[in-house]
Amino acid sequence: MAGDTKYQGSYPQLVTKIIASYVSHHNVAPEQIPELIGAVHRTFDSLGKPAEIQAELTPAVPLRRSVQRDAVICLECGWKGKMLRRHLSTRHGLSGEQYLKRWNLPSDHPLTAPAYSAQRSSLAKELGLGRGGSGRQAAAAPASPPRRRGRPRSVAREGA
Ligand SMILES: [Zn+2]
Repeated sequence: MAGDTKYQGSYPQLVTKIIASYVSHHNVAPEQIPELIGAVHRTFDSLGKPAEIQAELTPAVPLRRSVQRDAVICLECGWKGKMLRRHLSTRHGLSGEQYLKRWNLPSDHPLTAPAYSAQRSSLAKELGLGRGGSGRQAAAAPASPPRRRGRPRSVAREGA
């Protein structure tokens, strides 16, 4: 296959330098090194490409399978459970919002299994938190903490 040109010049040396410096500062098992090299290469590859390609990640499961009736699946690693939020923060260091942004998901993409949130809201009604009436409030029961209304004032504040 052609396309070896990028491996000429200072590129390989740079990668080697990065790996060597990483390995000398971190406890890396020998079998992890190929993975590390791959990661550094991928990073270099993505540097020269337009940002939109960088955003094109490969989900662990197809998007449409990531939300099931009684479970949601993490697109990062394929973890399956009732609620993604805690998993995302402990496992990937991502907030729900960061996750949605990263995967280009709509803000109403469920991070909690639909059956589970339905169960929670019907539980809430059983506990008397509903206001009675004949199902008028059924559509308006938020299963997650209230979202801020309107646009955040400083959209430009990123990278924190
Ligand atoms: Zn995950």
